[in-house]
Amino acid sequence: MSASSVACSPAAAMLSLSIREVSQALKEGRVSATELCKKCINQIQRTKSLNAYITITEEQAIEQAQQADNRLRNGKSLGPLDGIPFSVKDNFCTENIETTCASNILKGYVPPFNATVVQKLLDQGAVLVGKNNLDEFAMGSGSTDGVYGPVRNPWSYATSYREEGRGDPDSDWVIAGGSSGGSGAAVASLSSFLALGSDTGGSTRNPGSLCGVVALKPTYGLVSRHGLIPLVNSMDVPGIMTRSVHDAATVLRILQGKDEKDSTTIKAPITSPSLPEDFNIRDICVGIPKEYHAPGLSEETLAQWNRVASMFERAGARVREVSLPHTQHSIVCYHVLCCCEVASNMARFDGLEYGHRSAVDSSTDAMYATTRHEGFNNVVRSRVLSGNYFLLKQNYERYFLKAQQIRRLIAEDFESVFTSGVDVLLTPTTLSDAARYIDFIQEDNRTRSAQDDIFTQPVNMAGLPAITVPTALSHRGLPIGLQLIGQTLQDWKLLTVAHWMEQQVQFPMIRFNEDLDRSVREQTHTTGS
Ligand code: GLN
Repeated sequence: MSASSVACSPAAAMLSLSIREVSQALKEGRVSATELCKKCINQIQRTKSLNAYITITEEQAIEQAQQADNRLRNGKSLGPLDGIPFSVKDNFCTENIETTCASNILKGYVPPFNATVVQKLLDQGAVLVGKNNLDEFAMGSGSTDGVYGPVRNPWSYATSYREEGRGDPDSDWVIAGGSSGGSGAAVASLSSFLALGSDTGGSTRNPGSLCGVVALKPTYGLVSRHGLIPLVNSMDVPGIMTRSVHDAATVLRILQGKDEKDSTTIKAPITSPSLPEDFNIRDICVGIPKEYHAPGLSEETLAQWNRVASMFERAGARVREVSLPHTQHSIVCYHVLCCCEVASNMARFDGLEYGHRSAVDSSTDAMYATTRHEGFNNVVRSRVLSGNYFLLKQNYERYFLKAQQIRRLIAEDFESVFTSGVDVLLTPTTLSDAARYIDFIQEDNRTRSAQDDIFTQPVNMAGLPAITVPTALSHRGLPIGLQLIGQTLQDWKLLTVAHWMEQQVQFPMIRFNEDLDRSVREQTHTTGS
């Protein structure tokens, strides 16, 4: 991805670089960390109507950038992330910075500590520019269900989409995917070089695919969850969103490893400092799961899937069809397990310890009930309700235990495919390119999640690493991503294959009509939003 491919101002050209490229520019003094940080903050302001950010941390960011400049000037760089602006989904705790989960119940909550992943990035000199918008408590696949309103996909304003003659921006804008839609939109609209998302059932990969950026979900336990406000503890993983696979690898190396504050973390395997150059695609066996030819898969996404599979084949990789027979049960199984863990996780939000407390105080029970009613949206409340139902003594075996057993079968499907010699699986990430917002909100959240997460949820239930790489534009001019799934703790191999794939597909850089702010501003006037 080079600066010359962007039809934007010189400022945007600098912002469109990868971490590797901009880090080089910082080292060579072609730009200072402070200038870079200001450009990003400016870009956030210019693209405000995308609604990708809940909080902008301008003051702290400038301070951090100035510190990075001091180090860089004195030849004391902390490494590849020193001075690099990044943003974080607003369900990661950030010290002295409000952390809301896009929920009324956490409005005003200011954590006294940083999530481990945030701290690790700050320790490497990265500069936090803001907190990204999401679906409330990361429940959703569209970033349409948070209290701060929906996130707009930056590709809604790209020339590729608008050239198709779509005249009414008010009704034509498309969703960013979710639940980490703000993070995906931030990286795609060039206001941050790296964004953290969270991935429980696909929430990093789904918006990655719809926003045309790289999104990595590492092996469960490889990256600490400490400070990530939990959705489903047994599946949650911090996700990494960048503009290149190489950048994702750089960030994973920094984030991975045991954390004494998260007992589920594991020691990171030893890997080379960067992705191997001498990698031979002929040594790789790619599996194509036949069950992933799911109902609702768009013809274009299917065509891309076939095209890229042929690319692997032509280059000498072995490509073969495999079977993951329990895929068909994964949505239901995920739903039961998710609701059960949600019911237990959400119990802590009772108006006493964090955030919102209802003014109704006639009794403790009344205060709990109204606090939770006022604090949670329908999606959260319905999952809490379902989870408590599944966990009732008389239902426990029928739902929770059964779902646990099916989860095991789903994981075993993957295991048997990998032990038969397959190195990675190639699948679609989402069923199609991004839906228009007005179409997306026609259906209820559960149906949407059920449809959209079919390729991503099984991976979380098995704890495997997976990555989405943007591969092409649809006829609507919107990104289509493909997913690679790897074996447990083989994240590095996965990234190596993904890097190869990225080089082959040559995904185009986003281009805006004149510039993004203008299109967004015009739209804002039209919609009055
Ligand atoms: N869409 C899924 C859900 O709503 C996944 C969410 C996620 O990965 N955070 O549960």
